[in-house]
Amino acid sequence: MELESERKAVVRFGLKMVESGLTTGTGGNLSIIDRKSGKVAISPSGIEYAALQPRDVVLTDIRGNALEAETKPSSEIGFHLSLYRRRKDIQAVVHTHSPYAVTMACLGWEIPAVHYLVGFAGKKVPLAPYATFGTPELADIVSDHIGDYNALLLANHGLVAVGSSMDAAFAVAEEIEFVARIYYQTKSIGNPVILPDEEMDTVLEKFKTYGQKKMGG
Ligand code: 13P
Ligand code: ZN
Repeated sequence: MELESERKAVVRFGLKMVESGLTTGTGGNLSIIDRKSGKVAISPSGIEYAALQPRDVVLTDIRGNALEAETKPSSEIGFHLSLYRRRKDIQAVVHTHSPYAVTMACLGWEIPAVHYLVGFAGKKVPLAPYATFGTPELADIVSDHIGDYNALLLANHGLVAVGSSMDAAFAVAEEIEFVARIYYQTKSIGNPVILPDEEMDTVLEKFKTYGQKKMGG
């Protein structure tokens, strides 16, 4: 099976997305691009994650031409592909309907640096204006608003997270949901203290060598 490991990753992380409470039902979608061949493995539209098999994961080229089409690709294939075209540094896209991030998106709020982990996205999580799901208009809006951020709120809809791998994109989606929850909770009982811009510069610099990453590259 072509792009077998990528298709298996889409299945595995789709299940993880539901189990972690980052989406419900058949909401959200995921994809991985193989930059060498330019082929994309994307979750199919409207199939329960628990029922998803690697062969159901759709293969397309970067223009969206189906290469193996037993199932219909995600309705959001447009923004997955527009992100891969816009951001050459990313290899995976995760779209969730995670409740706290969606709460912010439905208020029309960005998520500021209320907690240093917002650094998974950048100095904040920006907000893209509303457009109907699955439309070319939404695809354009998403690629126009992602900038250098690794996450973007979609007004009245959800969250898009990107990364250099599926692990990285998923971690962004998970951490941003945590930060959105903290923002919600702090706003509920008081006035959250927002970290200054310079501190976020320091945090973003430290993230480059966090964990087991080698110093200096
Ligand atoms: P798909 O099942 O077509 O991927 O759609 C889910 C979704 O989240 C639309 O925005
Ligand atoms: Zn959605």
